[in-house]
Amino acid sequence: MEREQRSPRGQKRSRKKVCVFCADKVERIDYKDTARLRKCMTERAKILPRRVTGTCAFHQRELTVAIKRARHIALLPYIAD
Ligand SMILES: [Zn+2]
Repeated sequence: MEREQRSPRGQKRSRKKVCVFCADKVERIDYKDTARLRKCMTERAKILPRRVTGTCAFHQRELTVAIKRARHIALLPYIAD
């Protein structure tokens, strides 16, 4: 018995994700660059996971540190309700 294959509705998410920081050749993520940091956060100020943003392990780590620093000096919110 053959399994019926459902054809995808042309919405394949197979686009290769490239880390935005690698693409920009960023070595050190600037914690003062809140515009960039915000792109990697949800509206509620939570850090987006790697699988969502496609950020590589190295930059995700840098990003987390940068966001924490930015929060510490109140450039970014800890939580936005
Ligand atoms: Zn990267």
